Amino acid sequence: VFCEVTVTALQAPGLLGAAVVIEDRSRDEETEQMRRDFVANVSHELRTPLTALMGFIETLRGPARNDPAARARFLDIMEREAGRMNRLVADLLSLSRVEQDERRRPAQNLDLAGLLRSVVATLTPAAAAAGVRLELQGAAGKVPVPGDADQLVQVFHNLVENALKYGGGGGVATVTLERLAHEPVLRGPAWAVSVADQGEGIDQQHLPRLTERFYRVDTHRSREQGGTGLGLAIVKHIVNRHRGRLRIESERGKGSRFTVILPEQIGRI
Ligand code: ADP
Repeated sequence: VFCEVTVTALQAPGLLGAAVVIEDRSRDEETEQMRRDFVANVSHELRTPLTALMGFIETLRGPARNDPAARARFLDIMEREAGRMNRLVADLLSLSRVEQDERRRPAQNLDLAGLLRSVVATLTPAAAAAGVRLELQGAAGKVPVPGDADQLVQVFHNLVENALKYGGGGGVATVTLERLAHEPVLRGPAWAVSVADQGEGIDQQHLPRLTERFYRVDTHRSREQGGTGLGLAIVKHIVNRHRGRLRIESERGKGSRFTVILPEQIGRI
């Protein structure tokens, strides 16, 4: 515990004494530490592709100047590194927007089933390219829920993309929409959307930390797949804004299931 102690002398006629105020500042200290860690992480994440880009520029100017094959290869790598920086900056902007919105309840109503059909249709070519069969279950007709359509598209996009990235290739990824008559924590009816894959799964000890910014089980693997380490942090903030819950279940060697539970009525909570 980090405390700040302020002692003030009381000077009133006929009164001799002092006031002692003890304030618990450990929370502030923790927030400040998190902010510092975040800035350090962002700098590090940006520096890695930047260093690579600068190295390749140098090589293109020097040794590779008259080597067309090497030039083409280096330009491909440079494009990939620039793409990585671009995704990182886009995710950082998303995260800061989502954080600012978190206290404002989404006012519109949207059709959750239609939204899932459209996310799955958009990602079906990417699934095919990754050798994964993408299936959608229970999303017929219309399912009205209060929510921000753009943000929920981002949530399911991120979860399905992860299922494709870490799904192990060759398996099936399933998106399932299901109504829960009574969700105990939300204390009312809710809609559960789960995204399940048959990938390598995640060891239990990592599960509570997955939604932290830049937390990855395998940094090299995430980078190779073009990950920024911010996807699940964004998901978590958006789900919070919708007063929903995010449940993560996984078993090593069997696969993972990420379930977003959204209240049918935000006003009930
Ligand atoms: P990233 O950009 O690294 O994918 P995320 O925030 O989306 O960042 O995910 C954080 C980490 O959680 C990933 O690096 C990966 O280690 C793990 N992860 C996320 N989804 C899955 C999944 N479906 N299967 C296995 N691991 C996953």
